[in-house]
Amino acid sequence: MNDIFKDIIGHAIQKRKLSVLLEKKILPSTILFAGPEGIGKWKMAVRMAMYLHCGFPNPPCLSCSDCLRIEEGLHPDSVSIHPNENGIIPIGKEGSGEPGTVRWLIERLSMKSLSGITTALVDGIDRMRPEAQNALLKTIEEPSKGTYIFLIAGSVATVLPTIISRCFTLKFDFLHDEEVLQAIETMASQASELPLIAQAAGGSMANAVLLRDEGALEDIKNAMADIKEQINTGFSAMEHISRIEKKIGAEKLLDILLNIYRKNMKSVLLTGGIKGIIGDYFGEILFERVDTTLAVIKTIIQVRMELKRNINIVSALRGLLYEKTVSEQI
Ligand SMILES: [Zn+2]
Repeated sequence: MNDIFKDIIGHAIQKRKLSVLLEKKILPSTILFAGPEGIGKWKMAVRMAMYLHCGFPNPPCLSCSDCLRIEEGLHPDSVSIHPNENGIIPIGKEGSGEPGTVRWLIERLSMKSLSGITTALVDGIDRMRPEAQNALLKTIEEPSKGTYIFLIAGSVATVLPTIISRCFTLKFDFLHDEEVLQAIETMASQASELPLIAQAAGGSMANAVLLRDEGALEDIKNAMADIKEQINTGFSAMEHISRIEKKIGAEKLLDILLNIYRKNMKSVLLTGGIKGIIGDYFGEILFERVDTTLAVIKTIIQVRMELKRNINIVSALRGLLYEKTVSEQI
């Protein structure tokens, strides 16, 4: 069979599994793509839908009107749904048919398709509240003939077990640094920075794309200087952190910082110092001491977990860093 994912980086095992299911024509009606964000799960699900709708030999051709309309989310027999501006996919009012809601999706999937095949791409089953997932459950349990549903989840922790038990689940992992590097090498960027970007991205293409923007690495460096200042002096205004948070969002910022401090920690543990590509660039704003690095890592993890409660990340970072570092030295 034609390698339908050939231009998508990484995930060799998952690609092979999906190809076998297509080749043997034993594709389950619902597949759950579970794993970290920004690594290509959505892209692979879209490619599956293209394969099913494309009428050309060796599908997907990626250029016929079926393929292109799926890519744009405009195919009459392929429906896709994404989180709203609050990061959730709402259930929607009964009978209102409001696009982008779970009830609208269910309605769309109950309609007869023109081609005999219907596909649904759900960008975040984990972004639906339990009642919304419950509403979708019946559609998943009793799919119409020729209906294929692709569910994407950043984390399965908030996916109902009843949903998971009805799906064929494919687990995904972060990309390797080399794979991220391979992917970003094809994009126009300053070549010398690419290995550094690949490492700081921590296996997420979404992070890599952000870090490729002009000045992004410098921004991260400034954010880390804020953290170092907080630890050294017990107070930082954290102006850079506030500014960068507005630019790329708290989640991405904390995620990238965490990747860098984890590499910092690994380098100190393995070599006794700050070495490697990360060390060369971030140098003195990293930490030589294992306990300090660990305190920073723990703080970031804690703040990241509390993001859902709409906390102010500057005061959370400041408070926790103070607690975990300065107070220990006294
Ligand atoms: Zn095509």
